[in-house]
Amino acid sequence: MAKEIVVVTGAGGFIGGNLVASLRQRGYAQIRAVDVKPLEHWYQRFDDVENLSLDLNEKENCDLAAKGAAEIYNLAANMGGMGFIEKNKALCMLSVLINTHMLMAAREYDVERYFYASSACVYNGDLQHTSDDGDRFTPPALKESDAYPALAEDGYGWEKLFSERMCRHYMEDFGLYTRVARFHNVYGPWGTWFGGREKAPAAICRKVIEAKLSNKHEIEIWGSGHQTRSFMYIDDCVKGIEKIMASNIVEPINLGSSEAVSINQLVDIVEEIAGIKLKRKYDLAAPKGVNGRNSDNTLIQKHLEWEPSISLRTGLESTYAWIYDQHRLRESGAAGVIRETEVAFT
Ligand code: NAD
Repeated sequence: MAKEIVVVTGAGGFIGGNLVASLRQRGYAQIRAVDVKPLEHWYQRFDDVENLSLDLNEKENCDLAAKGAAEIYNLAANMGGMGFIEKNKALCMLSVLINTHMLMAAREYDVERYFYASSACVYNGDLQHTSDDGDRFTPPALKESDAYPALAEDGYGWEKLFSERMCRHYMEDFGLYTRVARFHNVYGPWGTWFGGREKAPAAICRKVIEAKLSNKHEIEIWGSGHQTRSFMYIDDCVKGIEKIMASNIVEPINLGSSEAVSINQLVDIVEEIAGIKLKRKYDLAAPKGVNGRNSDNTLIQKHLEWEPSISLRTGLESTYAWIYDQHRLRESGAAGVIRETEVAFT
């Protein structure tokens, strides 16, 4: 009988939880969701899914996760925004255990397809050190070959680059069907929005909401505000993951928006959505990552005739509304609000 179980690791987190929701909607009947967090701390959890709380650093837990699986989407990793990854390099590199043990288990249990979530942090940092010349600055669009010669982001980026190569060698040497996408900053509802692991769009939504609700019309911005990024809305990310998994793309491929904005422009949009204007204070000593980067989508367009296209303004409207509701719930101490579990799993 054909195997039907689809496994999503990191399913208690942002992208994994949204992927499980999408697979359910697409009619997958046997989904196994795995995360190290205790079940009550998962961002999204579904009763018709097999939910397992397992530490996938351990090989025997990867065996439990992979047993009987047709497909594995490996999204489990220790990660966060720049504030987190710059201060937790060893912890980020330890995610190598998750992917290595999951690949070993996938091979042992004859898994048919394996997806690995890589990151734009694999790209050579020297290509992203452009001078800080204000909001008109056009950041370099990184194409897949720009990961080599390698000078990945120290810690998190090197782990991703190494794990990409592990996937490639499992495909070449053992015939495991692996697919790798390099995500460029993903944002949207059900993502981390406070606690230290949140990324820029969620952090800025939260700061604007706090300023609005407290009537203290000020915002602190990390860096000069000129650093640029592209931000991909979660629905585009999930759609891209599913398309890449089903494709014949054997090399790591960019999955990101090509709409680049500076952090200042991001703040402009969120202010507009909130209907306020804030006094900006810049913290030049705060972690800010590389100066600028964007996603070159030539390859994904060529292979899939598709690329992420949901505009930042549209995506931020629903993200802002969701964080606003979460913020109010949290303030009122209500149940059902996203909680952080740093201590529980680091
Ligand atoms: P997330 O932190 O919300 O989800 C990751 C999940 O992995 C968490 O729920 C965490 O508990 C789980 N996890 C960590 N260690 C584990 C372990 N030992 N065993 C089992 N589960 C474990 O992050 P996310 O934004 O959903 O990211 C998903 C994947 O996408 C990660 O691999 C991340 O590196 C990658 N990625 C994300 C972005 C982004 O912008 N969000 C960008 C590039 C790459």
